[in-house]
Amino acid sequence: MSLLTPRPIACREVVEMLTGYLEGALSRRDHRRIEHHLAHCPHCTAYLSQLRETLRLTGSLVSEDLSPEMQREFGEIYRRWQDDR
Ligand SMILES: [Zn+2]
Repeated sequence: MSLLTPRPIACREVVEMLTGYLEGALSRRDHRRIEHHLAHCPHCTAYLSQLRETLRLTGSLVSEDLSPEMQREFGEIYRRWQDDR
């Protein structure tokens, strides 16, 4: 892997940074890495829309706002997807 090529970002990292992404708290570089990832990852896009909905409903966003069902559901989606690759 070339040093000039940004390391591809993993779904797990995207999920961890999405809160900051929505809040505009990320560096421009991380912001772009996430946007690039979202452009071709339907799973993270779905997760992002779920976070946006939570943000709209509660006015704030912490990972604890995600219901256990939601966290489990997304955990399985990501696991299944990664197994396919
Ligand atoms: Zn992803």
